[in-house]
Amino acid sequence: MSLPRFPLYIDGAFVEAAETFESLDPSTGRAWALMPAAGEADVNRAVAAAERAFHDPSWAELTATQRGRLLTRLGDLVARHAGRLAELETRDTGKIIRETTAQIGYVADYYRYFGGLADKVEGAHLPIDKPDMEVFLRREPIGVVAAIVPWNSQLFLSAVKLGPALAAGCTVVLKASEDGPAPLLEFARLVHEAGFPKGVVNIITGFGEPAGRVLTSHPAVSRVAFTGGPDTARHILRNTAENLAHTTLELGGKSPVIVFADADLESVSNAIIAGIFAASGQSCVAGSRLYVERAAHDRLVDILKAKAARIRIGDPQDQASEMGPLATRRQYEHIEAVLARSVAEGATIVQGGRRPAGLPEGWYFEPTIVLAAGNGIPCVAEELFGPVLSVVAFDDEPQAVALANDTRFGLASGIFTTNLTRAHRLIRRLRAGIVWVNTYRAVSPIVPFGGYGRSGLGREGGAESILDYTRTKAVWIRTSDDPIPDPFVMR
Ligand code: NAD
Repeated sequence: MSLPRFPLYIDGAFVEAAETFESLDPSTGRAWALMPAAGEADVNRAVAAAERAFHDPSWAELTATQRGRLLTRLGDLVARHAGRLAELETRDTGKIIRETTAQIGYVADYYRYFGGLADKVEGAHLPIDKPDMEVFLRREPIGVVAAIVPWNSQLFLSAVKLGPALAAGCTVVLKASEDGPAPLLEFARLVHEAGFPKGVVNIITGFGEPAGRVLTSHPAVSRVAFTGGPDTARHILRNTAENLAHTTLELGGKSPVIVFADADLESVSNAIIAGIFAASGQSCVAGSRLYVERAAHDRLVDILKAKAARIRIGDPQDQASEMGPLATRRQYEHIEAVLARSVAEGATIVQGGRRPAGLPEGWYFEPTIVLAAGNGIPCVAEELFGPVLSVVAFDDEPQAVALANDTRFGLASGIFTTNLTRAHRLIRRLRAGIVWVNTYRAVSPIVPFGGYGRSGLGREGGAESILDYTRTKAVWIRTSDDPIPDPFVMR
């Protein structure tokens, strides 16, 4: 039986790549589609198309309001086709259909938000210190953007790059991950239908080598927006040493959740479950380190164990499933290996820790809870990107803060307490780009997102993020009609 084939989208056309690769369905481990593997020539064509489109009047001379309308139209198309996109994301990544449907519905709002922002980017007039000069600043689009996303939440992670880039007037080559690229390759059809001029958005997929390398080091690329792992980020920074592209990095995390004994443990447990077991833990903001005040530790662990045991794991296309498989065999094996090392170093698995009974194929892994004495245990220290919650008890507030900050990452954090003054003290002390208080995993197009330390550089989302896709042009106008005086004195 022949597998469905997905094309690349370059210069307004759907084209085949010279090579293809099989995409595997994580719920069975079997090939279900053929994906195009962009080679060096494909990437060069995509960047050339984006560069041409950047200067072409059909795009360059649109007003910001017109660009905004195109983005709003794209948002409406995403909303209309959310069902089809969600089905493909679920098929290609194993993320449950309930979650992909809800998330993609919200992706539409990201495009609408950036559409509305397009004509709110203002320049400035400066109170210059010279009597015969007028100086103003223009904000101009930065140029060709290389956007690179990982396999989890590809539509979502590309919206926070494409949205501000297009609103600002840039053109884009977006590289979908080689794992699960189907939803983004399908999304290309909506970009086409929305009516962006050809070459403004190009969507490719392929491997880090050569596609990612060629794209991020290309001389015509002025801006790189990357989401993925820290090791790849280091490659990207080496690549952009070639073209000096302005680069933002959204990387991994090992986010702490701190629960004090005064919190409503029953309610808190739902936030913790959502924080670590949604998307089978394959979320950059996963609340994977749980620090619980000792007085509440055993009770909270009992509640969490009971809830984790009741999670329905199964076919991700089934509306009843609450957890699907991991996206790749690589992830499955990584999690098994880190858990084995953790147990060898003294951790205790009190829930899950293996393949669920009755699901012999695919990359399913049980929701897992591990008790650990401190931060030295591998499952507490390393990003697993899977459904593993590590629990450590603490005795007082300073110890909780020290444990939470004892990491090179700094993406998100959570605090659960009813004590307002304590919450404010912790908000100041936690080293993370996001602090959620008495909630977890809330996101919005209106709010900047990004991390401290090894979790990245720059922010995505929010009104300021569009400025990262612009550069400033300073314009000087002499207003005097007198002849220009002494040319050898700088004025
Ligand atoms: P990855 O770094 O392996 O891959 C990400 C992308 O980079 C893929 O498209 C890949 O093809 C590309 N790539 C690989 N090598 C490259 C190279 N040399 N040059 C250019 N591009 C290259 O990440 P992954 O395993 O797919 O995703 C998981 C990671 O992503 C985790 O660490 C997770 O925390 C992180 N993540 C971060 C955020 C965030 O917003 N902070 C969101 C989601 C995921």
